[in-house]
Amino acid sequence: MAGNKTFTMLKPDAVVAGNIGNILAMINNAGFKIVSMKYTKLSKDDAGKFYAVHKSRPFYDELCDYMSSGPIVAAILEKENAVEDFRKLIGATDPTKAEEGTIRKMYAKSIEANAVHGSDSDENASLEGSFFFNKFERF
Ligand code: UDP
Ligand code: MG
Repeated sequence: MAGNKTFTMLKPDAVVAGNIGNILAMINNAGFKIVSMKYTKLSKDDAGKFYAVHKSRPFYDELCDYMSSGPIVAAILEKENAVEDFRKLIGATDPTKAEEGTIRKMYAKSIEANAVHGSDSDENASLEGSFFFNKFERF
């Protein structure tokens, strides 16, 4: 059965461009409840650990530089069928391929600086949430 939580980050491009409020409004309007939230900044080492699954990909090093280049907002979101519905709301990784009305279509700058992260499975949602929040902060 699909779980009811997912994990997101508003990436440096979205935060620096002043889009936190607009993106959070889209997330709320789509029926997600924010149950944990943190404004923070990753070191390159942190970014490397978070994206360890992409270590062998050609974009890994640049991605870690980018993700540690500015502030981010990390959050745990709650909704029925959260992981799948949130991936639909954010749209394709490459914003030129993202559907109209998706967060990435509206706010992403490039395939790398694509405004927002969304977990791809219940298991990763749980792991990624634990990366940022301790068990007392995960409601
Ligand atoms: N990424 C990139 N170049 C690529 C593919 C991905 O810079 O060709 C970055 C982008 O920021 C993306 C992240 O790496 O969001 C993780 O990639 P993934 O394939 O997991 O995409 P996502 O699940 O975020 O849509
Ligand atoms: Mg992914």
